[in-house]
Amino acid sequence: MKIKIFVLALGFATAMSAMGANRMEKYHEPFAIDSQWEDYYPGKVNFRITSPETAGADIYRRIIPDPDKYISDNARRVLQTLYFSPEDKIPQIKVIDYVVRDFDGVSYKSGGGDRVRIDYSTGWIERSFVDNDTLRLDYETRGVIYHELTHAYQLEPKGCGTYGDGGEYWAFIEGMADAVRVACGCFEQDFASKDRPRGGSWRNGYRTTGYFLYWLQLNKDENFIRKFNASAAELDTWSFDAAMKHVLGDRPENSVDNLWDEYQKAIGDK
Ligand SMILES: [Zn+2]
Repeated sequence: MKIKIFVLALGFATAMSAMGANRMEKYHEPFAIDSQWEDYYPGKVNFRITSPETAGADIYRRIIPDPDKYISDNARRVLQTLYFSPEDKIPQIKVIDYVVRDFDGVSYKSGGGDRVRIDYSTGWIERSFVDNDTLRLDYETRGVIYHELTHAYQLEPKGCGTYGDGGEYWAFIEGMADAVRVACGCFEQDFASKDRPRGGSWRNGYRTTGYFLYWLQLNKDENFIRKFNASAAELDTWSFDAAMKHVLGDRPENSVDNLWDEYQKAIGDK
């Protein structure tokens, strides 16, 4: 009987430490910043908490004691994902207004040109901090920053409509933001993960498009995301189809519909 309990206890301890290891793997440390980006100036971070009385503001202050460095370093991780080097033509951002405040939602970017503003919700911070999980909150906060800061630094494609029409321009903007988030490791880089929506279309934007672009980087060209971003400046009339052929070679198998089909089959959705 005693032995049985011991074995049970051992099994439980092993299961717990395996869970701990998985959790550490999932809520990992941020990826290293390449030396060429270490001193890159991403713009002045103008950090404010405008709902200081909320629990979310208190949690944020405790977990992120140096928001200027936190935001600047994560901006550098976005930049090294989108660009080959600091010598590339990168939109110059003068000011990043980062506002932690109480509102319904998660986070959003506004502003434009050389001044961007990102709002981050104290309510979302509180919900992400259930179980007092510091690593989880940091992982979530970084993921949101990767998405929103991609909007600050990404290139904007030409001749393919507007953000508001929900077409290819929109799918590029939102798909790239989530592709960068996956590439920076703040959605799981495992295609079997629940983070990845199943099926759909490359036109769906956000994670559906983002995981597709990340898959192309793993399977077709290790610099795919950088080249896809550059295609926005290089093509006068941008489209997903033209950009795929521009980056991967002008062949029928590189049509966006064909690549989507190949991707869907490869990951087992089709
Ligand atoms: Zn977005």
